[in-house]
Amino acid sequence: MKSDNISYNFPFSHIYVEKQAADHPLTKEILSRFKKSVVIPIDHYKDVFNRTHQDFELQKTAPALILAKNEGASVFAGSPVCQDFGNDHFYYTSCARGCIFNCEYCFLRGMYGSGNVVIFVNLEDIFTEVDMMCRQHHMYLCVSYDTDLIALESLTGFVSKWSSFTESHDDLTIEIRTKSFRKDIYDICKPCPRTIFAYTLSPQEVIDRYEQKTASLSDRLEAAAYAISKGFPVRLCFDPVIYFRGWQDAYAALIHEVAEKIDLSKVKDVSVGSFRIPAEYMKPLRKSFPSSSICQFPYENRNGVFQYPEAQQREMENTLVTLLQSLISKDRIYRAEF
Ligand code: SF4
Repeated sequence: MKSDNISYNFPFSHIYVEKQAADHPLTKEILSRFKKSVVIPIDHYKDVFNRTHQDFELQKTAPALILAKNEGASVFAGSPVCQDFGNDHFYYTSCARGCIFNCEYCFLRGMYGSGNVVIFVNLEDIFTEVDMMCRQHHMYLCVSYDTDLIALESLTGFVSKWSSFTESHDDLTIEIRTKSFRKDIYDICKPCPRTIFAYTLSPQEVIDRYEQKTASLSDRLEAAAYAISKGFPVRLCFDPVIYFRGWQDAYAALIHEVAEKIDLSKVKDVSVGSFRIPAEYMKPLRKSFPSSSICQFPYENRNGVFQYPEAQQREMENTLVTLLQSLISKDRIYRAEF
């Protein structure tokens, strides 16, 4: 029997607002767009986001939004499991935490255990910190590390703001990594050689199986091609490379499709790295997802990082690098090394 009284949660049907973020203009702007959402004042975002025993999968079906202020330092040394692309001063920053996509292998699941999304509304404070740091030396900064920033752009405008900020700071290079299909960003922002848009590329089988809610391969390639046509520096990331039966054929087909749809002579660079995750994040993932093939794979723990067994890892990465070397110069191919 149908009941008209039942109301279902929808994404961001519940918005938690830190008291100290309540008066921020971005908080007000975001709330004005979610008039049907329930707004719940909180003291601190961690009271909600870092709670124990959260039901990650349930939260992912209709994530709550948390609007907060990032207090204290917000720029950190880059993780050794991430690629630095030859940069000496490699950092990441979090202007949002959590993602509207739902990749089964995502380290955020193990790191935070929450399917909700935090937006730190005080981006201007991160800018102040970065401004101070890049007076000392050139910085390479990943700004879409704990989230997919392009996917949140219509809410935050952060990609546009980072793009303008970077343009005015000669000693700053940023990377914005994404699995989004959005192309309109390239009509809004101005190309800057130091703002790199990085597309994670996987065979469609991997996207279907492990990268829920992300853009299809063809949509990612279309967005990347559009960015290139508008003069933006584009990086293609074959990272993480995932092992599954038939991976060789699937990745060969992927690279063939990429070469057909993207002018590789205009790509800034490409990266190759097989799946890896700090052991501390994998432990909660394995507990939460006992039937996940990607979480339960018998990885080796080398130096505190879960990785494919060495020979298998080498075979997977070498296969991709060999395929790519026939299409793009060696000096533009970066491999994960740690
Ligand atoms: S797109 Fe990136 S941040 Fe988002 S769920 Fe997937 S791996 Fe995690």
